[in-house]
Amino acid sequence: MIRVKGLPKKSLSQYSDITGEDAISRIREKGESLSGEVIGHVNSTPSGGGVAEILTNLVPLMKDVGIRAEWWVIEGSDEFFNITKAFHNALQGNKALRLTEDMKSIYLKVNKENSKDLPDYFDQVVIHDPQPAALIGFGKKSQPWLWRCHVDLSDPNIEFWRFLSNFVVKYDRYVFHLPEYVRKELDPLKTVIMPPSIDPLSEKNIELSEREIEKTLGRFDIDPERPILTQVSRFDPWKGIFDVIEVYRRIKRKLPGVQLLLVGVMAGDDPEGWVYFERALRKIGEDYNVKVLTNLVGVHAREVNTFQRASDVILQMSTREGFGLSVTEAMWKKKPVVGRRVGGIKFQVIDGKTGFLVDDVDDAVEKTLYLLRHPGVAKGMGELAQNRVRSNFLITTHLERYLDVLTPLSGRDRHGG
Ligand code: UDP
Repeated sequence: MIRVKGLPKKSLSQYSDITGEDAISRIREKGESLSGEVIGHVNSTPSGGGVAEILTNLVPLMKDVGIRAEWWVIEGSDEFFNITKAFHNALQGNKALRLTEDMKSIYLKVNKENSKDLPDYFDQVVIHDPQPAALIGFGKKSQPWLWRCHVDLSDPNIEFWRFLSNFVVKYDRYVFHLPEYVRKELDPLKTVIMPPSIDPLSEKNIELSEREIEKTLGRFDIDPERPILTQVSRFDPWKGIFDVIEVYRRIKRKLPGVQLLLVGVMAGDDPEGWVYFERALRKIGEDYNVKVLTNLVGVHAREVNTFQRASDVILQMSTREGFGLSVTEAMWKKKPVVGRRVGGIKFQVIDGKTGFLVDDVDDAVEKTLYLLRHPGVAKGMGELAQNRVRSNFLITTHLERYLDVLTPLSGRDRHGG
């Protein structure tokens, strides 16, 4: 395991314009009861994907309220990450996958090796997702452990879930994004529901000037005068990327000037991404009104921010979506989202009010065309979308929810000190 260092410093006070002073004082007060405690977060990648995004923002804010928060990342071979990707896919519902003895033994071996580097000074340990979940099975457990699940567990491949649940049940708390992801075999008293969040002041979400947006669009040869549809997602089988391309093609028949931005980061723990990346390129062929914008060509947080802000409609055609921070980010930027009626998308988007929930490509084409042809409606939906995020899915609320879960588990509380 290695520690993620060099995170930018953040101060809660910077958020008072967005949340109001009262919320900030309340959070600071709650932080006091955990002041000086070491909370160790562990996940499998320092960049790419929603978990890394949250930790980049959450860890500095935890520090700001007095917690000695640390972020550690497990190390593993490509083979290990291929196996954990199979875990991810199986847990999200791929029933065709089989869990072999070899896979189990590599998964356990890597977790065991990593457990040797786990610092012994953590007061509480927060393990994110399945990759490092088995760390709890090795070494001495002398503090509370929480398992923070970021995947959609509503209909898992049972073989994988049974294996993983052997570890999950050992945790003191299991934290899920949505109630529908909670498995019935888990202890309800240890179960917590906590949606994730975005940071409105991060490079990904901060306000940008019109000038900067235009300049960046120019750099990537995107025409601001023509309609822009965008999906921001990893190249992953669950993200519905081929459907997005299909939606675009059908809209193009009606509005030939339309452009599609497929914004997709290549994450370090996702070898399968390359396969989908190549398949997407082949499907797009020589249509240069589709831009494939990845970190490989210099697309980082600020550029993603730009593309979201420059879009007329944001698509999210995922067939499974644990939560969908890309949806939250778009809503915060006052964009109507046309998203498939699944998981976190259907939880965030209020159908007909902040965007549209759709069941298939036909539906998505119809709703997207409607929004492109009624910019006034799209604008109104965007305003409501931002309000929804402000009240529910900002990092400040997330931090407060964490404090509420961690405080009763803290050494001081447990020992009555
Ligand atoms: N993301 C990004 N660049 C990309 C694609 C995705 O920065 O090219 C970010 C996206 O903005 C969001 C996160 O990665 O913050 C994806 O989180 P989400 O919950 O949508 O999906 P996950 O990748 O965790 O399945």
